[in-house]
Amino acid sequence: MGSSKLLSLLVTLYLLAPTSISSDVSLSPEELTQIPVKFLDFAKKPEIFYWMVNIRRKIHENPELGFQEFETSKLIRAELDQMGIPYKFPVAVTGVVGYIGTGQPPFVALRADMDALAMEESVEWEHKSKVPGKMHACGHDAHVAMLLGAAKMLQVFRHEIKGTIVLVFQPAEEGGGGAKKMLDAGALENVEAIFGLHVSSLFPVGTVASRPGPTLAAGGFFEAVINGKGGHAAIPQHTIDPIVAASNVIVSLQHLVSREADPLDSQVLTVAKFEGGGAFNIIPDSVTIGGTFRAFSKESIIQLKQRIEEVVMKQASVQRCNATVTFDDKSFYPVTVNNKNLHEHFQKVAADMLGVQNIKENRPLMGTEDFSFFAEAIPGYFYYLGMNDETKGKFETGHSPYFRVNEDALPYGAALHASLATS
Ligand SMILES: [Zn+2]
Ligand SMILES: [Zn+2]
Repeated sequence: MGSSKLLSLLVTLYLLAPTSISSDVSLSPEELTQIPVKFLDFAKKPEIFYWMVNIRRKIHENPELGFQEFETSKLIRAELDQMGIPYKFPVAVTGVVGYIGTGQPPFVALRADMDALAMEESVEWEHKSKVPGKMHACGHDAHVAMLLGAAKMLQVFRHEIKGTIVLVFQPAEEGGGGAKKMLDAGALENVEAIFGLHVSSLFPVGTVASRPGPTLAAGGFFEAVINGKGGHAAIPQHTIDPIVAASNVIVSLQHLVSREADPLDSQVLTVAKFEGGGAFNIIPDSVTIGGTFRAFSKESIIQLKQRIEEVVMKQASVQRCNATVTFDDKSFYPVTVNNKNLHEHFQKVAADMLGVQNIKENRPLMGTEDFSFFAEAIPGYFYYLGMNDETKGKFETGHSPYFRVNEDALPYGAALHASLATS
């Protein structure tokens, strides 16, 4: 950002605000409670709002899959360059880590994920995905725009920030475990807390939802190959039928949650894949099954994983088959646990900005998030940013080809990021 432009932003804000936004602990409690509202007013100003909207649309038109976010990353770096924000790159292939403030502790991180999904967009609009088979259907384009929006506001007040705000733009949230790679690359070194948000069509725009403690499940994928001996379907006695064996394996797997798990300890085991055979009169040599398993504690997920392996192997052997089970470690995410102290901080900041009536408590979800890796390493907090607005039609939930982002939510996300980090 040019110095004259920066000055004009500063002046605009100082005119707008009777007191400046600051992280100075010497501010009175009253002044502190005004920070979130001032950031929100700032983020709603047309020059900030439309700037975020344009960034989001540009990213939406060119969706990139996990660890391939080269253009998205380039766009982020170009914006940071323009604002004069220093950053580290590359971190975990395409990741970018920016720094605003003194360069000294305390370090507080804000996170946005950058990747899109391998699916075709069905929404007909001016900024529809230009890449066949790829779409931002989870709102990560909006997440990037909001974090850049927060960066723009925070950079204006960088001289008043008493510590350092770390901007984490991470690759590959959708099954690639980009957060883990960022952590391994040292992205959170010296960082004391991290915040992340996700747009949600389940809550109205202008509201937020979260909960303390476990909020998203731990989960992973498994695949099992059950080997028998193929042959004529009318002469089964000369074969070892893997179809029947696999069917029994699946039924036995269903007992793990219904008969072995504590009914008050939520778990899921779904076999979503069954591949075997190709003709009505041939028993195949093997069957491949696979699926996902989820739980809300480390102990439960480890136990479930171990029992999946045992049940597949032993149940297959009952029918004279051999089996192998593989777990995709790359896609294994831990439980996302929200730190209790950060929950209090979040509730206070969000109430100052939106009013207590607009803070909802969400139920835990069996979905997974790789933000969990960050929240496992340091105190972390993950919340939902409402974007539903019935006057603007139906907003589908994430991963739908009809998914749309309500861009009216962008100022709220940017202002929450900035407020959570400074106050
Ligand atoms: Zn997603
Ligand atoms: Zn997502």
